[in-house]
Amino acid sequence: MTVQDSTVIVTGAGSGIGRACANELASRGAKVAVIDIDADAAEQVASKIRDSGGVASSFRADVSIAADVDAAVAAVVEALGPLDVMVNNAGVLDGYLNVDEVDVEMWRRIIDVDLTGVFLGCKAAVREMLPRGRGRIINMASIAGLNGTGGGAAYITAKHGVVGLTKQMAVQYTSRGISTNCVCPGAIPTDLRANSMDILGSGMPDMSAKGQHITEEQVRQGIPAGARGDVSDIAAAVCFLASDEARYISGHSLVVDGGVRAK
Ligand code: NAD
Repeated sequence: MTVQDSTVIVTGAGSGIGRACANELASRGAKVAVIDIDADAAEQVASKIRDSGGVASSFRADVSIAADVDAAVAAVVEALGPLDVMVNNAGVLDGYLNVDEVDVEMWRRIIDVDLTGVFLGCKAAVREMLPRGRGRIINMASIAGLNGTGGGAAYITAKHGVVGLTKQMAVQYTSRGISTNCVCPGAIPTDLRANSMDILGSGMPDMSAKGQHITEEQVRQGIPAGARGDVSDIAAAVCFLASDEARYISGHSLVVDGGVRAK
């Protein structure tokens, strides 16, 4: 699998990590489908890629709705050709609510986006990839998918679920030509908190001030690499997993956190 000329979908590519993945994959010659719940943001990313000579189209979909995902994937295949790589990246943060604080409605909304959304993306991708016997699926988990910190109960549960789903799919589909891996970023500066508050709306606490009592120097001291990571660090990992160099890797959770989880 070479990234050049492959058809790649990135969900949640209107912002942050997904946008960086879309840009980097396009710069390596992929035809990129930019999918987001925010149609304007998705189109802005796709049009910038086209302006710099790449191939990209935008599609609106809410990844938690099966009909949206199925329609978007069908439209991508129609517009850009058979699907080679699926990056299930869209996600929301859950306001760090503990079990005694999160009501069942909010719990379901987070799980719907962060876990069921990845499942629906995988399901649509597998449907396209199995008949051709080839494909790469890359799911955006988190170090919150490996430990009990980095989010509230629903976010951490969903991200652990993404890690588990990735392993189950690797066991079932690698022999049929589809590898499945996930990326586990550490804390990366993006608009995740603000976007999540917009998307989840009422019932979501103000996340903007969380952690602000910690100085930038204290943040850096907690990271063995001595600095925060950047969206480009995560995009590089996604591009690697999409590349021919990663052909023998499946079921892996690639931690990209400057060494934090090793502590
Ligand atoms: P972001 O808010 O900048 O980007 C997320 C994008 O997903 C947004 O464009 C948003 O509109 C879109 N989105 C949200 N819900 C959607 C839905 N239901 N359907 C379609 N699109 C939807 O945030 P980000 O930090 O780039 O997050 C991307 C992924 O990385 C998420 O899965 C997040 O959990 C994960 N992650 C982020 C960090 C971090 O520190 N930023 C760390 C670990 C994992």
